[in-house]
Amino acid sequence: MPFDQFPVQPGRINYLFLTHAHIDHIGRVPDLIDAGFRGEIICTHATKALLISMLHDAMSFSDRTGKEIHRMERLIDDLSWGFELHDTFSLKQGITFKMSNAGHILGSCFIRFEIPIEGTLGDMTLRHCGESRNPETKNCFSIIFSGDLGCTDTPILPDPDPPDACDLLVMESTYGDRNHTGRKDRVATLEKLLHKALADKGIVYIPAFSLGRTQELIYEIDRIGTKIHGDMTRFSPIKSGSCTQTADLEQFWDKEAKDLKAKGDHPIDFKNLYSVQKYRDHKRLLDIPCSLNLKPYIYLYPYTLNPIP
Ligand SMILES: [Zn+2]
Repeated sequence: MPFDQFPVQPGRINYLFLTHAHIDHIGRVPDLIDAGFRGEIICTHATKALLISMLHDAMSFSDRTGKEIHRMERLIDDLSWGFELHDTFSLKQGITFKMSNAGHILGSCFIRFEIPIEGTLGDMTLRHCGESRNPETKNCFSIIFSGDLGCTDTPILPDPDPPDACDLLVMESTYGDRNHTGRKDRVATLEKLLHKALADKGIVYIPAFSLGRTQELIYEIDRIGTKIHGDMTRFSPIKSGSCTQTADLEQFWDKEAKDLKAKGDHPIDFKNLYSVQKYRDHKRLLDIPCSLNLKPYIYLYPYTLNPIP
C-alpha cells in the first residue's frame, strides 16, 4: 500500500490506540489527522505525557512550518486521552479494552480488547475459542495487540505484565526467536568495554534511541561508574532531552529506580553527565572533550541528532 494511503478511511476511525511514544509507532498521527481523522487517541498517562514532545521532535524534520506544528500539537493534545493501566474501559458498541504494562519504554502497554460479537470483522472471521476472565463478556471475542515488548529487569521500568488469555494475538517479533542476554551479562559486557576505553584513552560512541535506551544506558553507566576507580571527570556521557521527561515521570518508574532516588542517588543523573538539547550544542560538545583533553569519554548518541562525526 502506498505510504500516503491508509487501509481505512481516516474520517471513519473512531479510536486510535497508541501502545507507546516511540516515533515509529506515533509518527504518522499528524498525517492521519491531515487525512481527516478526528476520533479519540487512546494511550496510557505516561504516553500522553510524552506524546507531544516526541511528535514535536519528529515534525520539526518535516515540511510543516512552526505555526502548523503548533496547531497540530494543540489538535493532538485535544484528541488524546491518558488511561490507567490494568483497568477495563468501555467504548462504543460494547467493546472494552484494558492496557497492561509492556515494559518497553515508560508508558508502553499492550492492549486487550473484547468485542461482543461472533461474526466477521473486515476480512476476518471471529470465532470465540479462548476463555474470558470477565463473566459479563464471556462470549466476547478477545484480541491482544502487543506493540513493542520489553524484557524483565529493564532499568527504570516496571516488568511487563503477563497477558490474559485471548482469541487472537497480534504480536511484534522484532527479535524473532532470539533470546536476549540477561541484564547482568549485558552490564558486564558494557563495563568491560568502558574499562577498555578508559585504559586506551579512547572515545566510545553509543547510538541509542533517545527515549528508552538512552536512559537505560545512563542508568547502567552510572552504576558502573561507581565501581570505576580514578578520575571520574573523564567520564562524560551525553544525555538527550528525553531524560528530562523521564525524570519528570518518576511516578511510572520501577521500585529500584524510586529507591535509588529516595537514597539521594538520581538513577539517570550524575556528575559529569552533560545534556544536549540543540544541534549547535551537540556540535560544540563534540569538540570539548578533545580541546580540554578530557578524553576518554563516552558519547550517548540519540538517533534524532546527526551526524556522528
Ligand atoms: Zn518502541
